[in-house]
Amino acid sequence: MRTPKPLYAHERMIYQPELLTCPHCGDLLVTCNYLAWDKTVQRLDRVLSVASRPGRCPHATCVGSRLRLLSAAGQGIAPAGSTYGYDVIVRIGWWRQESRATYREIHAELASQVRISESHVGYLYQQVYLPLLACHERQHRDRLAQIATQQGGLVVALDGLAPQGGEPQIWCIRALSSGVTLRSGWLCQQDQPTFEAFLEPLKHLEWPILAVLSDKQTGLVPAVATVVPHSRHQFCQAHYLRNLAAPLAEADAAFKRELRQTVREQVGDMLRQEPRTAPGHTGVLTVTGLLPSPLETPTAPASQSPSPRDTLTAPEPKAAEVITHLFRHTRSLLTLKGRPPFRLAGMETYERLQNVAQYSLDLLAKRYDPRLAQLYQGLQSALAPFAQTYQTFQQGAAWLRDIAYILEAIQKQGLAKQ
Ligand SMILES: [Zn+2]
Repeated sequence: MRTPKPLYAHERMIYQPELLTCPHCGDLLVTCNYLAWDKTVQRLDRVLSVASRPGRCPHATCVGSRLRLLSAAGQGIAPAGSTYGYDVIVRIGWWRQESRATYREIHAELASQVRISESHVGYLYQQVYLPLLACHERQHRDRLAQIATQQGGLVVALDGLAPQGGEPQIWCIRALSSGVTLRSGWLCQQDQPTFEAFLEPLKHLEWPILAVLSDKQTGLVPAVATVVPHSRHQFCQAHYLRNLAAPLAEADAAFKRELRQTVREQVGDMLRQEPRTAPGHTGVLTVTGLLPSPLETPTAPASQSPSPRDTLTAPEPKAAEVITHLFRHTRSLLTLKGRPPFRLAGMETYERLQNVAQYSLDLLAKRYDPRLAQLYQGLQSALAPFAQTYQTFQQGAAWLRDIAYILEAIQKQGLAKQ
């Protein structure tokens, strides 16, 4: 028995949704903190390690909060569940269909580019390529209906692939949340009438099409506007914004490093000394950046007449617990991760440490505790030198958001004019 050699990816890509705003309420999407899928894909030219991080609307009351928007570009790499790229599958289909090549011949052609067995060539043709052409829509109608009802409509992605370069091209319309192919076909040319004919059936779907994602092919843009005039047609705007945001993201990364270092210099020793878990509350973090609700001013038993000295040296267990949580929370803030363009870790760390400082001050006003005072002072002196930079970054981030809104408005106007 030979052990197959492991596949090494040439490149790691984590895709994020191209849609930047919620198709229902228009507010900026937030990215989820998990990956919808993560796999190694063999393409004709290289091996990729690819993953997709979904986005959703931040407002719990909006129907968009139930949408898990994926990247159309990420989904266009390989079919759901397949570790071979669409380019490999379409190449197999093309050779089989057009040149009547046998699986053995196709395998011989492909073997220099991808690792695959002859039987798997047959499998990909029968089980992936043919169903792709046959369109899953009918088999998956119930699932689609469920998703569309739950999410208030469908977001679809369009893309084309040319096995030989140029024409013809195979085109697919996919439902973005499920990856189900609604329609696919070989198009001998890419002009407006051809695209209109190809997209026509979208008119008859019983669910609204919320948005259409595609590259900006000539012919495709007016065809989408004619067939589904009420949907949003979005291009790779997210990439554009991410490029625009790159200098800010870089500066923020440096800011984050410096800030963390300074905070560690000021309060690192204290944070390290603190026990990792609070008694009786293992792993539950009750103190977040906002004020937690069950905060009572600790009171001394009535039988004693406490002096300030007593309160200082013998804090009640409850107060000690709150402080322990606060220290633990502070420690966790020093490991925050960002997701540019809209979530910048440095800025967020600064803001949330400010909250901790403010919260410590509020607590101190109610009851003095030397560790708390030390934490407050340490954070204050660590944060103070960064205040100016933080202001500048905040301005940059605000501009970026404005740009995102302006781009959004331009697209809506452009669509309305056509
Ligand atoms: Zn929304």
